Order: sequence, then structure tokens, then C-alpha cells
Amino acid sequence: MTSVAERASRVRARIDAACRAARRDPAEVRLMAVTKTHGPPVLEEAYAAGLRLFGENRVPEAAEKAEQFADRTDLAWALIGHLQTNKVARALRFAAELHTLDSLRLAEALDRRLQEEGRSLDVFVQVNTSAEPAKTGLAPEEVEAFVLGLRPFSALRVRGLMTLAVFSDDQDAVGACFARLAELQRRLRQLDGAPGSYDELSMGMSGDFELAIAHGATTVRVGQTLFGARPAAPVR
Ligand SMILES: *Cc1c(COP(=O)(O)O)cnc(C)c1O
Repeated sequence: MTSVAERASRVRARIDAACRAARRDPAEVRLMAVTKTHGPPVLEEAYAAGLRLFGENRVPEAAEKAEQFADRTDLAWALIGHLQTNKVARALRFAAELHTLDSLRLAEALDRRLQEEGRSLDVFVQVNTSAEPAKTGLAPEEVEAFVLGLRPFSALRVRGLMTLAVFSDDQDAVGACFARLAELQRRLRQLDGAPGSYDELSMGMSGDFELAIAHGATTVRVGQTLFGARPAAPVR
């Protein structure tokens, strides 16, 4: 059995190599440890390995874990699964960033709550770059109007864009998804009145993070390569 610490150092070495190949500074790329479905022992190992950003896709599961790890004040939690408006209050109790913003209704619910609490939240606009109907996220052509619609919601700090590439062995098809997100980023940076910095691209997972880095990823979301295959049901 390979330890999480060993796997993490291998993933970091691969990130560094991918950055060098792309003539990028490795400090520009954050490694998010996707801890969904894993229980406290695995999270302890991840923390001990120096991982400080954990990604979770379900609010109740994440809220419980965040509570268990509340004394680790340098640990940040990212929500990478679809967020329902009725779970906004609970999500905001622990989440430092949301990678799946894809509706104005959700933006409004988040902003209202954040304004009440006098704080802000880092958000990523999720884009469906593969045009697969089963995937959530905005169609690329909807994104400009969408971000302009975010203007009233001043508690949302729009950091950038997020995508899941097409699930395929075809590297060209996967790379095309990442290229589409990077192209959108360029357009948004030039769009008058668009709120946010668009300095972040959240893309790349276990099977494709090096390719994502070649296309400009600033946050890669890695689960299985760090922790092995996920258990079928969430571990409590
Ligand atoms: C599960 C998940 C990941 C991590 O996938 P791995 O293949 O385990 O690296 C990344 N992003 C999202 C949105 C996920 O749901």
C-alpha cells in the first residue's frame, strides 16, 4: 500500500513537471484533494501530507467532516458538487469556495445570506465545455450574459471558471474542453463590466490534470490518484 504522503509527493512532482513543460510557475497551480466519500482516517493522512484544500461534492457529508476538522484552521473546503438553494446556509458554514455556480437563483440565495453575515465567498462559474447533456454547468455561449447578471451580487468574488472535461481516452477531445474554458477566460477578461478577476481556471482531475495545466489550469481537483478508488458509499 502506498501512503497518501507518497502519492501526494508524486502528484506534486507531476504538477511541477507539467508546469515546467508549459513554461509556467508551479506556484500558480493549487492541488485540491478531492476527499469526497473518504472518512476521517484518510482525511487525517491528507492533512499530514500537507494538503490544505479539500474538495467535497455533498453538503451534509462535507459539513460533518468540516466540523470534525474544525480545529485545523489552515484547512479550506471547496464545494465541487451541485449546490441546491435550500442547502446554501449549511454550505456557507464551512465552504471557502464554490466551484459550481451555474444559476442566478443560486447566486442570489448565496449573496443574500453572505450579505447578512457580512462576508464574501470565492466562486467559480461552472461551464459545460463538453456539451454532454448529462453534465451541469452553463453552455459556453451563455457565460458572458451570466457573469454580467452577477453584477448585483457583491458578496460573490468571481475568481474564474470551472469545468469537467469530456470523459474520454481521446486526449484531443479532452484538451479541446480545456481550451474552450481558457478561451472563455480570455473573452471575459476583456468584457466590459464583468465582475471578477477571471484569474482562475479550475480544471483537471486524476486522469487529465497535466493536460489541464498545459491549457492554463490554476486549480486541479485530484481524488483517485491521491487516495485510490473511492468506496462505493460515503464512509462515516
Ligand atoms: C470527484 C471529482 C473530482 C476528482 O476526480 P478523480 O478522478 O477522483 O480525480 C474532480 N472534480 C469533480 C467535480 C469531482 O466531482
